[in-house]
Amino acid sequence: MSNLPVEPEFQQAYNELASTLENSTLFQKNPEYRKALKVVSIPERVVQFRVVWEDDKGELQVNRGFRVQFNSALGPYKGGLRFHPSVNLSILKFLGFEQIFKNALTGLNMGGGKGGADFDPKGKSDNEIRRFCVAFMTELCKHIGADTDVPAGDIGVTGREIGFMFGQYKKIRNEFVGVLTGKGLSWGGSLIRPEATGYGLVYYVEHMIKYATEGKESFAGKRVAVSGSGNVAQYAALKVLELGGSVVSLSDSQGSLVVNGEGSFNAEEIAIIAQVKVDRKQLSEIASTEAFSQKFKYIPGARPWTHVGKVDVALPSATQNEVSGEEAEALIAAGCKFIAEGSNMGCTQAAIDTFEAHRETNAGAAAIWYAPGKAANAGGVAVSGLEMAQNSARLSWTTEEVDARLKGIMEDCFQNGLQTAKEYVTPAAGSLPSLVAGSNIAGFKKVVAAM
Ligand code: GLU
Repeated sequence: MSNLPVEPEFQQAYNELASTLENSTLFQKNPEYRKALKVVSIPERVVQFRVVWEDDKGELQVNRGFRVQFNSALGPYKGGLRFHPSVNLSILKFLGFEQIFKNALTGLNMGGGKGGADFDPKGKSDNEIRRFCVAFMTELCKHIGADTDVPAGDIGVTGREIGFMFGQYKKIRNEFVGVLTGKGLSWGGSLIRPEATGYGLVYYVEHMIKYATEGKESFAGKRVAVSGSGNVAQYAALKVLELGGSVVSLSDSQGSLVVNGEGSFNAEEIAIIAQVKVDRKQLSEIASTEAFSQKFKYIPGARPWTHVGKVDVALPSATQNEVSGEEAEALIAAGCKFIAEGSNMGCTQAAIDTFEAHRETNAGAAAIWYAPGKAANAGGVAVSGLEMAQNSARLSWTTEEVDARLKGIMEDCFQNGLQTAKEYVTPAAGSLPSLVAGSNIAGFKKVVAAM
């Protein structure tokens, strides 16, 4: 028996990767890689610290801060900061572990890491958030640097929080360097960074659809279920609209907004939802307004998957484990053929197993395509990598240039997963290559070769 604490989320992420490696020919071809898996599963370093800050009443509050510096074989540790009451070491280790292989799949020179705090931004004032960020960075700045470890945002950390933290880093260290990504445009940020995860997700799925239909279909005319209403969900939804698809759902931790009948969210409604999120409010607060109550139904306490009717594409973009095995079955029964994670580990193992089983048994046009977050949502960290490159060169690239690079990276991510699956996994007769196995093997191989 292990004397280590139980880390369910990390164990889930580890098992998911390890099982796909075991079921491939990778270890037969490279027996030494089995040892490498053992090595890569232990973080190079974990920093844990106390964050004491003052609330608006002048009372002291305290939270736990973390930074998991998981792997630096390919470059500086890179990965977001999550501020959410659920944050603990298991969650940050799962996120950091996935980040290692995701960052490898971007083809850029970035190691993997993750951090955050069990701080809840909900119900806090702007000043409280600022004081928390300043206190958090006062300790974190001792452990990071532009060539050491470059954090960014994740759940609960937007450009505003990055700004508060960047200011504090600059004050303490007296350096203007690219130590954080997701910065504002006027102080070192990159164009397209806020949009990158959502746009990249949709670019990736475009390749899945194109490949699956031999170039005959695209997002045009497709019904797309999206969960979440943060940065990833908003920009994925906007890109789906731009490409001619319909967005039939968005959600938050309290419930889902689902369109009635054939309709779709439009850009104005997504802009209203974006403002709700900036104000740290809930979708329930706009669900009964005139603009929303006619066109949408609000389902409290529910995820969208079993309420969306017939859909072609599902983009879980809220948080981990947001699609269960039963919900995966319901999506398939509703006609969904393409599932791609905008969130990290959005699907439970039962959901992945369901999608993968339908990939193997439903060959041809009925096949199910499932793309894991470490490939499908790599666009965010990819543009973070481009932000680092611009900061080092003290240059700013145009929207067109960054978007073109993002498109190229997402295409490479898709092709790399597909080709690696063909090389290392023998699919059942007539079935498609597994993007989850291919992406895991491709990312793992790259990191291990560097180690
Ligand atoms: N939090 C994002 C992710 O999960 C972005 C990380 C980054 O840009 O460093 O990939």
